[in-house]
Amino acid sequence: MNFDKIVKRVKKQFGTDVAVREDERSVFLSGECDNWADIVAIGKMFVTEGKHVVNDIALKGYLCKPERLPQLQDDALDGGDWDVVIIGGGISGCAVARELTRYKLRILLVEKHSDVARGASGANNGMVHAGIDLKRPCLKLKYGVAGNAIYGDVCRELGVDFRRSGQYVIFDSKLIRFLAKGTVKRATKHGIPGVRIIGKKEIAEAEPRVKDFAVGALYAPSTGYVSPYQLTIAYAENAVQNGATVSLDTAVVGMETADGKVTLVKTNRGTVSARCVVNCAGVFADKVAEMAGDRYFSIHPRRGTDLMLDPKAEGTPVQTISMGPTLKSVSKFGSGSTKGGGVIRTADGNYLLGPDAVEIPDREDTSTNSQSFDNVFGKHSQVCPTLRRGDVIAYFSGVRAPTYEEDFIIERSAKVSNLVHVAGIQSPGITAAPAFAKDVAGIVADYLVSVGIAVLPNENFDPIRPRPVRTRELDDESRDKLIKQDPDFGKIVCRCEQISLGEIKRAVNNPLGVATVDGVKRRVRAGMGRCQGGFCMPIVADVIAREKGVDITEVTKDDGGSNIVIGRIKEVRQ
Ligand SMILES: Cc1cc2nc3c(=O)[nH]c(=O)nc-3n(C[C@H](O)[C@H](O)[C@H](O)COP(=O)(O)OP(=O)(O)OC[C@H]3O[C@@H](n4cnc5c(N)ncnc54)[C@H](O)[C@@H]3O)c2cc1C
Repeated sequence: MNFDKIVKRVKKQFGTDVAVREDERSVFLSGECDNWADIVAIGKMFVTEGKHVVNDIALKGYLCKPERLPQLQDDALDGGDWDVVIIGGGISGCAVARELTRYKLRILLVEKHSDVARGASGANNGMVHAGIDLKRPCLKLKYGVAGNAIYGDVCRELGVDFRRSGQYVIFDSKLIRFLAKGTVKRATKHGIPGVRIIGKKEIAEAEPRVKDFAVGALYAPSTGYVSPYQLTIAYAENAVQNGATVSLDTAVVGMETADGKVTLVKTNRGTVSARCVVNCAGVFADKVAEMAGDRYFSIHPRRGTDLMLDPKAEGTPVQTISMGPTLKSVSKFGSGSTKGGGVIRTADGNYLLGPDAVEIPDREDTSTNSQSFDNVFGKHSQVCPTLRRGDVIAYFSGVRAPTYEEDFIIERSAKVSNLVHVAGIQSPGITAAPAFAKDVAGIVADYLVSVGIAVLPNENFDPIRPRPVRTRELDDESRDKLIKQDPDFGKIVCRCEQISLGEIKRAVNNPLGVATVDGVKRRVRAGMGRCQGGFCMPIVADVIAREKGVDITEVTKDDGGSNIVIGRIKEVRQ
């Protein structure tokens, strides 16, 4: 293809010279520019049907921070021989691992952090999207709709809460409400069930907070809510229960290839061999592809900030609501870099406001700032003006992993035959993972069979991962019974979330072996309430030390090096 016209347009618009090169899979860009947003915008200008953009335009004067890697160095995995090595313990990697355990295979999942769900899968809205925003057929639509349809079943099997309570996109103009008929038609064509437009009276009944300005709403009943990190953990635990090995604090740092195949995978815990490698590395998926000499797409990190509201705050809505397009923004509806977010009622009954979407050069920059806070609060409180800034008890950022084509890449590499990419998994990745994980397991199994490896069903596969006990949900009789069996379930440690010592002990002794304060928080919510761990964190740290038989100074908040107590200042004889 001749890119001369685009190169000239780039020069005119951004004052930048771009060099372009092509091969059968990709368009490669190089040059220099002094603004990251411009670099991303330029990359998008070269998106061409059937090819990926690899954007090597450098940001002038920018020194990329080194990637966060585990402190641990040992040879625990050295010499291991695996049928499948999965790189990345987000929802993609963990769901793929669990689906692969349906077969009798030796499966290793490696995650560079000290727990799973530490990338985007641990910092997102947990909305199981209906898919109403997607205009054209693409993998996001295919797997989003398919994933949504099976969510209830998957969560039942894995003992994770899932609430299918729908979403309302609010209209304040009758013209927009009329135009939304097109969205309903498209949703029906895409197989999204039950999408309809509701009138002023119906929306005022469903959500009284918007009755003063709403003339109607688009209602998508299939939208649901899940705790994304609890589902990721449940997938990983079920994979382990069915025979997979999960190695945490383990980063893939290189690969060796021969005859168009990955032969060795190098980690900080030794070098392993693998018949097949699955790349589920989120924002690092293009870097992992590069390690195998297979760089044909680029990830451009896009940060999103969410604000968490006090669940007890007055003025929160009953439903998940977001402001629909206005007359000014209607042409952009569904084509932006975020699904628009809103005021979201999470699976745990909390409220999230957000996210926004900011292109950033650093893949691991999960910082928050007042600008994002103000933008998110300003934008999303429009749909619920009764919200107050003082109701925000925490905020966090996650980083999405889009490609320039803004679609998932789920395929076996055309160049490295035993490498499967699960890349570009931006939103709706949480929604889509249960569906694409099944297909990825199929791609891996087909490949292994094609090279003569027997892939037999795992007769011992058990899809059920028991739901953890939650004392606060039990009726008096069941709670009494449980406390009689184990008095620790009668001792409340996290007062905000009503989490007992018994639950914390079980969380510490989880199947993945994660014994950190944040690991406990992700599993049982201790520290997630209004005080954000102010009261319970020292007790949780102490429980970890006792359960694991280590000194309190060895207990970490999260990854290695995040020790909470750094030394003793007094000794009390007991
Ligand atoms: C703010 C925000 C809101 C969102 N809201 C929603 C939503 O409401 N609904 C929805 O469906 N989707 C949503 N998404 C998208 C969703 O979170 C992602 O699509 C999904 O979590 C991606 O999962 P993943 O497993 O592919 O990537 P990740 O969760 O990022 O996991 C990748 C993992 O790979 C590991 N890794 C990377 N490199 C290496 C290496 N070399 N060696 C070992 N490990 C490595 C990382 O540490 C990481 O844990 C949102 C995303 C963001 C950021």
